[in-house]
Amino acid sequence: MKPAKVVILGAGYGGIVTAIRLQKLIRAEEVKVTLVNKHDYHYMTTHLHMPAAGTDHHENARVAISELINERKIHFVKSTVQQILPEEKKVILADETLTYDYLVVGLGSETETFGIPGLREHAMSINSINSVRFIRQHIEYMFAKYKLTSKHKEYLTFVVGGAGFTGTEFVGELADRLPVLCRTYDVDPALVQIINVEASPTALPPGLPHDLVEYGMEVMRRKGVQYKLSTAIKACESDGVLLGDGQFIPAGTIIWSGGVRGNSLLQQAGFDVQRGRVRVDDYLRSFQYPDVFITGDCSIVMSPEGMPYPANAQIAVQQGCNTARNLLYTLRGKPLRPFAYDYKGTVASLGRGEAVGILKVKKVKGKFAALIKKVIDARYLFLIGGIPLVWRKMIFKQKITT
Ligand code: FAD
Ligand code: NAD
Repeated sequence: MKPAKVVILGAGYGGIVTAIRLQKLIRAEEVKVTLVNKHDYHYMTTHLHMPAAGTDHHENARVAISELINERKIHFVKSTVQQILPEEKKVILADETLTYDYLVVGLGSETETFGIPGLREHAMSINSINSVRFIRQHIEYMFAKYKLTSKHKEYLTFVVGGAGFTGTEFVGELADRLPVLCRTYDVDPALVQIINVEASPTALPPGLPHDLVEYGMEVMRRKGVQYKLSTAIKACESDGVLLGDGQFIPAGTIIWSGGVRGNSLLQQAGFDVQRGRVRVDDYLRSFQYPDVFITGDCSIVMSPEGMPYPANAQIAVQQGCNTARNLLYTLRGKPLRPFAYDYKGTVASLGRGEAVGILKVKKVKGKFAALIKKVIDARYLFLIGGIPLVWRKMIFKQKITT
């Protein structure tokens, strides 16, 4: 019998964990697995706020896919997915077409701009290794430009749109980084402004207990972050942002962290989507196409209370494990195992040595929470690459030069 063909799209949290788990479970002759990703490395999105601000090297946020997979069991294709054709069981890549018996979609998310004029053109977002290299360079460029040219104060104004987890984690790092840049470029720190604009009345997601939100905002304010709360960004221009209250903030740097939506390829392929994400069945399969498994930010998994779980790395990893097992059961004709999300908690970094979060139901903050955040990062590296990867990315990691 010809081996079944499994194609995994995306080597983010959901995709790479599916591939790594699958290679442990399968015999090479029973299934041909192809993993497609647009880069030849896996990156840890959860780490990107640091290289974006320049407080860590971007190399510590990525690892070569060849180091993670067994190439005798998983065939890796570095290419960009252009189209998914679920009716024909085909995937069109930039340079070839793949056919599949079973497909796993783990293509992650895209920046949600809510149609706000000028955002796409003038704001930067933290969503890939290349985007954070660009942001880091841009921040430094603004300091250099301020020194060299006519000393416009707005070159030293950094606006961050959205104070959810991404915005908050980035702002915490940026506030740690700016004093270093002030020293390097001999700039008076009093001239530098970080303004975090948030449409809701508080920073951090609404699900976090009020006292942790207060704590987090107090830490940020002590670092010099200014908040504009209950204020939405209405438009973005090359030289600043227009707010809902009519104020225009001139700024040389605008970072947009106002939310994400699922990869647009799913909607283009004809899947029923809500904000680009596909609601999946108990086994993480599309209701329309049961031979398509969908993981991570592309999927919507409902809680027993009927609410969608938030898209995050924790659920994507667990979905990857479940999908690998259910692929194996599908191939061997065994009953599938329903996905049950085991929520372990959430911890958000607030910059060096500070974090807030919830572990199951226990609140954590400060240095202890920051330590837990490191443990979570280490645990993930261990899961995908064992102790050598933890060692390389967290202990003997690549140093930043300035
Ligand atoms: P991703 O990890 O985004 O992977 C998608 C993969 O698909 C990528 O490798 C990408 O290159 C590839 N890809 C995309 N399009 C194509 C294409 N057309 N062709 C080929 N390949 C393609 N969650 C947490 O739980 N904890 C955190 O601390 C946390 N921190 C975060 C910090 C930041 C700055 C951000 C932006 C997000 C954070 N999240 C965190 C959310 C978390 O990163 C996402 O929920 C998670 O990455 C989703 O995993 P995924 O597998 O769906 O997609
Ligand atoms: P988000 O949707 O959680 O937050 C976006 C924020 O932007 C919201 O607070 C929203 O009110 C605000 N906003 C939207 N439009 C605005 C406007 N026009 N002007 C001003 N503010 C506006 O998005 P995110 O923070 O990027 O997070 C995406 C996902 O990744 C979430 O599921 C999150 O839980 C996850 N994440 C988790 C962590 C962590 O666990 N440490 C870190 C980062 C991201």
